[in-house]
Amino acid sequence: MNPPRFETICVHHAEEPLRYEGAASPPIFQASTFLFPDSQEFVTRDRSGATRYDYSRTGNPTTRILEEKLAALEGGGAARAFGSGMAAISAAILSGVQAGDHIVCIDTAYGPARQFLDHYLPRLGITTTYVGGISVAEFEQACRPQTRVIYLESPSSLIFAVQDLAAVAAMASSRGITTICDNSYSAAYFQQPLRHGVNLVVHSGTKYLAGHSDVVCGFVVGDAERMQRLVAHEGVLLGGILDPFAAWLTLRGLRTLAVRLERHQSSGLAMARMLEIHPKVAAIHHPGLATHPDREIARRQMSGTSGMFSFELKEGTRERTFGLVDRLKYFGIGVSWGGFESLAIPVRLHRPSEREGRWGIRLSVGLEHPDDLIEDLQAALAAS
Ligand SMILES: *Cc1c(COP(=O)(O)O)cnc(C)c1O
Repeated sequence: MNPPRFETICVHHAEEPLRYEGAASPPIFQASTFLFPDSQEFVTRDRSGATRYDYSRTGNPTTRILEEKLAALEGGGAARAFGSGMAAISAAILSGVQAGDHIVCIDTAYGPARQFLDHYLPRLGITTTYVGGISVAEFEQACRPQTRVIYLESPSSLIFAVQDLAAVAAMASSRGITTICDNSYSAAYFQQPLRHGVNLVVHSGTKYLAGHSDVVCGFVVGDAERMQRLVAHEGVLLGGILDPFAAWLTLRGLRTLAVRLERHQSSGLAMARMLEIHPKVAAIHHPGLATHPDREIARRQMSGTSGMFSFELKEGTRERTFGLVDRLKYFGIGVSWGGFESLAIPVRLHRPSEREGRWGIRLSVGLEHPDDLIEDLQAALAAS
């Protein structure tokens, strides 16, 4: 038999219902501490929590099921859950650097990740150079002898810029540099960066993985050895763990991840195709469309696209852009994305090569009926 596929991992991997009275959904181990039968077992307990739980900062059985699923979905040796995507991102970056090191990062990376690099790490004497990420040569030119980490996010979450993961990872690996990739957009389903040679994958699980706009969580996934060090240091010592109830909610979200993403993909593409030929639309940024500048790399390393993209109006002034967003009926105005509900926000967009941004609209296409969403957008465009 073949090893279990994505959907089957979401449903069955790491589940042991018969250990828990046959409960089809695992219990929430809402416990800070775990007790031992005698002093001998207590003093010889495995502090890593791998074989015996002792304290929920080192490990928790509910959270462990989730971590094992994420590792299997991304094709990694191990995964660690964190209390947010930013806790995962900061832990992953810190695990790869020490004082005086240098980082190369794509300039379309998630804003708070950039703030961590620009405003926090300089305290440790760690500096960052940004690159557009269009060619491997750009990364190579930005690397110095002190470069220890290359940070990627592919596709990025405003203009959906794509990097050639295999090529960048190979270049980095030949120089002993750790590559980290934010894979939140693809939610482990449309792309597995570890399979392209990337060393660590980070996720905002808040988005598609959990999928119900009711939990904030994050993950780091990598090979077993790297993850063991990361868990012992940035995991256990910085202590940004995921609470067991939030882990349980995320497990519940994962059950339907593949079916949700298929619908996000088809609805997102249907909307993008409508917008692509709409007379009032100037540009559309969707890595699944032939017009996307990185379409060829996207096709090579991704099996599909999720429900998030952005577009610009002709004469896309601030006033017209805000007006369109405000007219939408089914799209809420709010940060985050990847939930069951559709969202639309006005954003400043620019390609890496451009200095000045333009107003655009980022959509996270939800699980409403796609015809309702298309009609909503068409009506708002007609009035704009
Ligand atoms: C939201 C987001 C994050 C941060 O995740 P949190 O769970 O909010 O901490 C990281 N990367 C991307 C691309 C995001 O959209």
